[in-house]
Amino acid sequence: MPEQKERSCGNCTACCKTHAVFEIDKMPGQWCKYCEKGKGCRKYNDRPGVCKEFRCEWIKGYGERPDRTKVVIDFHNQGAMGNLAQLWEVSEGALGRSYATRIRSECLGGDVCVCYMYLDGRKEMFVPPGFFVSPALLARLNEEGIKLFKTKGISIAVQGLK
Ligand code: SF4
Ligand code: SF4
Repeated sequence: MPEQKERSCGNCTACCKTHAVFEIDKMPGQWCKYCEKGKGCRKYNDRPGVCKEFRCEWIKGYGERPDRTKVVIDFHNQGAMGNLAQLWEVSEGALGRSYATRIRSECLGGDVCVCYMYLDGRKEMFVPPGFFVSPALLARLNEEGIKLFKTKGISIAVQGLK
């Protein structure tokens, strides 16, 4: 991993739309009632713990600023999936644009699984070439309604999910 330079949010408020904050009944994909879009949080000093802790990958030095690209990138280690990059859509259509495609290719090329988190709640999982999808994992994705795509060279094929 290249050395990363810490940044600050500035007037980006993208994750105040994309992510859920259960403590304040905030659902994913909806603006938080405390958010002043493009400015900041109205209850900044008293914001929930998850808001204090969350740092997208741009903050840590990777990618471009989420309010400009309309994609929030969030890396996790997710057990059976191993390293996983979640790409959260801030505005409808953003995951269909070249920025998201480039990040997806970079991650898959580095053996990192990618999950597209659409604004409407759909999720799509992309796994690198050679990634073993166990029956248990396939069942879990199926149960959660997550469509699975397997990378083969540069093309991506849909796996047999219902
Ligand atoms: S998406 Fe990243 S840069 Fe934007 S407000 Fe959230 S943590 Fe800050
Ligand atoms: S409480 Fe503040 S920091 Fe947390 S999602 Fe709402 S506006 Fe953003």
